[in-house]
Amino acid sequence: MNLSDIHHLLAPRAQEFLRRDTHRMLIDGRWVAAAEGRTLDVLNPANEQCIAHVPLAGAADVDAAVQAARRAFDGGPWSRLRPADRQRLLLRLADLLQTHAQAVAQVESLDNGKSAAIAEAVDVAMSIDYIRFMAGQATAIAGITRDASIPFAPPSAQFVTFTRREAVGVVAAIVPWNFPLLMAVMKLAPALAAGCSVVLKPAEQTPLTALMLGELLMEAGFPDGAVNIVTGDGPGAGAPLTGHAGVDKISFTGSTETGKLIGRTAMDRLARVTLELGGKSPVIVLDDCDPAAAAAGAAQAIFFNHGQVCCAGSRLYVQRRMFDRVVADVAAIAKQMPLGHGLDPAAQMGPLVSQEQLDRVCGYIESGRREGAEVLSGGRRAGDKGYFVQPTVLTNVNHAHRVVQEEIFGPVLTAMPYDDLDEVARQANDTPYGLGASIWSNNLTRVHQLIPRLRAGTVWVNCHSMLDPGMPFGGYKQSGIGRDLGREAIDAYLETKSVFIAA
Ligand code: ADP
Repeated sequence: MNLSDIHHLLAPRAQEFLRRDTHRMLIDGRWVAAAEGRTLDVLNPANEQCIAHVPLAGAADVDAAVQAARRAFDGGPWSRLRPADRQRLLLRLADLLQTHAQAVAQVESLDNGKSAAIAEAVDVAMSIDYIRFMAGQATAIAGITRDASIPFAPPSAQFVTFTRREAVGVVAAIVPWNFPLLMAVMKLAPALAAGCSVVLKPAEQTPLTALMLGELLMEAGFPDGAVNIVTGDGPGAGAPLTGHAGVDKISFTGSTETGKLIGRTAMDRLARVTLELGGKSPVIVLDDCDPAAAAAGAAQAIFFNHGQVCCAGSRLYVQRRMFDRVVADVAAIAKQMPLGHGLDPAAQMGPLVSQEQLDRVCGYIESGRREGAEVLSGGRRAGDKGYFVQPTVLTNVNHAHRVVQEEIFGPVLTAMPYDDLDEVARQANDTPYGLGASIWSNNLTRVHQLIPRLRAGTVWVNCHSMLDPGMPFGGYKQSGIGRDLGREAIDAYLETKSVFIAA
């Protein structure tokens, strides 16, 4: 299937969006070019062709976007909306996203390389559900009242005391390229439910669905300035945004390295910060489970989204008695996995997002080889057009190796045997990260022994990478600060004000 031949098969809204070629970004309710007129090429990672141009925002554009968000928050129509009005707007946005789910998923596929069918079933579906979940939270924001017992006031003095939960202000939302729409929604939905205004910066590799989302936000009727979307790169747009004095809170998902940089910038002015960062999540197979099911689960845990998942199960630990069997099964699954572009229904894995990512992942595989790893499957680039990497399984690695310690963010699995639960708990925790972990076992006692010992924000049992709008997601250790999703997520966009009224 030739990619350029299938454009006429796209949903009308996707065709219409892609026909524009040169896009604009959203500032204060208007679609604008970058102040300096510069643009950024957007490439289709399956064939390396340019599919669109977006504005390359600079500091002046970022400043205009923050000013617009400030006006919307400080006195504009957005700040005067009641919780039920915010709820209604969010529900309208969810409905619009549902109407255009296929078109958005197809554009996501062309921009990021992932399967359009999966983008629709996972990325877009989860986005819709999360917007609806957060719409419900908008009208559930509540403080508390207490009968005061102020120790230094006379016993006869009476006070009415209560707390108010108030929106934190202007939010800078900076998101990565692996789930472009979903990551944007994971920041926008709780921020808007709380009543914050937002400046969203999508990743430079994958800006298109954020712009589609911007159109839907406008169609839904969000007031000007409530959401602003600036397209640009990290140093040119991300850095001035996080450093802007008008930003009250930064919500970032991306690499641990950039997250630390942003955390330091935020600390300078004590801006609130939520960081959802990297991972090196273990998949722990106990020797009481069904080896075929565990192998299928382990393959899914690492190869889903081509390994470009912050909670990807990138370290496989199998109890020694079952090691050879499970690892051989995972390698067999990897070897027969068809690669192809995201609109090809036969493809099970697509290209990585960029040349940079291709080089990085291949570099890690080479480093593994140099350190003595045995390559059971894959091990190199696939083809010479598009950023495809073969699904790769490495054995004969040890814990000091870079491929075991560092986040690769690609379809590369390291597999190691272990003997007992003490040993595997120690090894599972032996990286700087703590995002997720999965346990594969049918023995509840052993599962419960292990769960509290794993230093990770999420533990899955007999599954991996499951997310739910109502379940908090985030990292221990260097995997982040704070939580996305769940009721916890909206808390991160609210301040608490205590009020004392002398009666
Ligand atoms: P990657 O290296 O895989 O692109 P990053 O964590 O650097 O991952 O990127 C995630 C997001 O952070 C992107 O939107 C990117 O533009 C942005 N970003 C990168 N560097 C900075 C920075 N110094 N300040 C703010 N945002 C940044």
